[in-house]
Amino acid sequence: MSLLTLTRHARILAVAMNHPPVNSMGLGLRTALFDALHEALSNPDIEAVLLTGSARVFSGGADISEFDKPQGRAEPSLMSLIELIESSSKLVVAGLEGTCMGGGFELTLACHHRICGPSASVALPEIKLGLIPGAGGTQKLPRLIPMEAALNFILKGNALKGPELARLGVVDRLIEGAFIPGAIAYLQELLAQKKPLQRIRDLKVDYPHHQAFLDFAKNTVQATAPHYPAARALVESFEAACTLPFEEGMRAERRLFIELMGTPQCKAMRHAFFAERLTSKIPDVADDTPTRSIESVGIVGAGTMGGGIAMNFLNAGMAVKLIDTQQAALDKGVSTIRHNYENSLKKGKLSQAALDQRMALLTTTLAYKDLATVDLAIEAVYEDMGVKEKVFQELDAVLKPGAILATNTSTLDINRIASFTQRPGDVIGLHFFSPANVMKLLEVVRGQETAKDVLASVMKLAKTIQKTAVISGVCDGFIGNRMLEHYVRMAFLLVEEGASPAQVDQALEKWGMVMGPFRMNDMAGNDIGWAIRKRRYAQKPQTIHSKLADAICEAGRFGQKTGLGWYRYESGNRKALVDPVVGELIEKYRAAHHIQAKKFTDNEIIERTIYALINEGARIVEEGMAMRASDVDVVYLTGYGFPLFRGGPMKYADEVGLSRVCATMKRFQEESKDDFWQPAGLLQTCLDQGKSLT
Ligand code: NAD
Repeated sequence: MSLLTLTRHARILAVAMNHPPVNSMGLGLRTALFDALHEALSNPDIEAVLLTGSARVFSGGADISEFDKPQGRAEPSLMSLIELIESSSKLVVAGLEGTCMGGGFELTLACHHRICGPSASVALPEIKLGLIPGAGGTQKLPRLIPMEAALNFILKGNALKGPELARLGVVDRLIEGAFIPGAIAYLQELLAQKKPLQRIRDLKVDYPHHQAFLDFAKNTVQATAPHYPAARALVESFEAACTLPFEEGMRAERRLFIELMGTPQCKAMRHAFFAERLTSKIPDVADDTPTRSIESVGIVGAGTMGGGIAMNFLNAGMAVKLIDTQQAALDKGVSTIRHNYENSLKKGKLSQAALDQRMALLTTTLAYKDLATVDLAIEAVYEDMGVKEKVFQELDAVLKPGAILATNTSTLDINRIASFTQRPGDVIGLHFFSPANVMKLLEVVRGQETAKDVLASVMKLAKTIQKTAVISGVCDGFIGNRMLEHYVRMAFLLVEEGASPAQVDQALEKWGMVMGPFRMNDMAGNDIGWAIRKRRYAQKPQTIHSKLADAICEAGRFGQKTGLGWYRYESGNRKALVDPVVGELIEKYRAAHHIQAKKFTDNEIIERTIYALINEGARIVEEGMAMRASDVDVVYLTGYGFPLFRGGPMKYADEVGLSRVCATMKRFQEESKDDFWQPAGLLQTCLDQGKSLT
């Protein structure tokens, strides 16, 4: 199939890019476009060119499969295409419908005019990869629209829709009716006007007091995004647009772009981007595995998780049937869901019609037989094997053949849960995170007997409900919580040995974690970890634990819910306040255990906690519980507040260097006699073979 469709409308040539799925600007399309434009510009029968994509997509931008490959750098480059259009003495207009991103949009900035349909959705998302636009976007957009709007647009990296693009002046006209006839009529109007052609590059940035604005912007990004050099570089590039001739500004943009490409932050963010795309690739499950249709969902348990899980499906327009043991529990569950939607309504994030539509999709029942027609049942009852056994037997008895049976358990063995049914192949873990309607991460737990089509079906479903799904094998804590246990264990030991909870939290938060471990435990409830530890003391008595956290719980300090935890909280306020009582409790504990308090640097705190994540993460990969190291990174980036600019624990290990990471772990092992610190086999193997983890 040809990459372009050329259509003549009298003396206008319409060039439509036709390279599914997203008209990415790979070498093939660049070459076809260059040749077609070159031919059109030298053909005396053609007076003007309309450049379009399809009704769904203009262009998704650069072809990411060409990243770091010779094709990516081969001529004609995007810049050559841009220069060809800018050197044209004939009118060239870009007609945008659907998605237009990155380099695709920069191409339109070379055209004399841009027009769009209401469906147009335009973004310069480079900032999300730690970059700035590199084909003139930072030089041309502030020449086209007010500088503040241009800066915010690129800084956020989010898409603007057709009407907004017209309002801002990014496009010259919004075409409401049939797009191509409207676009051709617009070109004919322009030709009739016989006005000289206007290129964006020839305009000046017209913004009063631009230097004051740029100084303000510099200070703002410095304060709000200290770890993101791309934000600073963007302001610098805008400064070049204001103060330098166009060509010099373009050189400044290129220099900044290349500098950013080499930064660890950009490498980490690009890693995260590709890692997220990879999670749905399952080596032994073919991409074309037929999936089961999932249109209706039954949720067992209308508590905290059941309600949040239900909202995901309601939001996606799917029917949900909620079941519990008591009418009161159902009523409470439904009223919480309604309350959450009403909050969104108040904030203007949801319309009344959408609220009504979602609530209408929700029904409740006390009888399992009412679940007979659902395609998927998700269990979210108490974390107790006996209760789960009863629920799965009930589900097995009533669900239709081919329905999928899922459990949201955090800690229980999914293979055992599957064994309570006559259809273990249809059983899978869907581990949502709390609040389940907000958190992006979904751990999909693959049991020993889970059927491949069940796995493929839920991975597809995860996309429908906009979750980032990562597959985990069956192990205690799955990927995320299994790693977290050691991270938190190390944080407790650090405090036992001499650090304060606030010092540990601040060191990790300064390093980039969204929330330090003590604040996090206070939020989740210290009693939850306490219950798990009590089990661990019996299961794995050799693991070194600080009992300090138990002393905190014995004092009734369960965290935010009791107003007291590692910190204290004032009523109705989540701000963690340092509590001298905790300091005294810690000192008393140290004295009773003859512990001489040591001083720790922030770096020592980071190494002890983050390297614990790395070691356990590597063990999880080695055991095949995660399919690849980058999946571990996605779990931490999407579910545990790990800083994006560090790419996840595994990527961070590569960035530090495995030799340093392993040497530090061995030192910890010697000092603490904690065998956990024996570097995971995978770390040692990668080190010996000179390979990276990711
Ligand atoms: P919850 O106590 O808030 O809700 C449990 C609900 O299940 C209650 O409404 C209860 O009435 C109902 N229930 C109990 N037995 C039932 C039965 N036999 N049939 C039908 N309904 C029954 O608990 P939760 O926090 O929502 O946790 C539910 C599950 O989700 C647990 O397995 C838990 O480990 C898991 N989980 C919890 C979190 C979290 O942060 N809370 C996170 C991930 C996973």
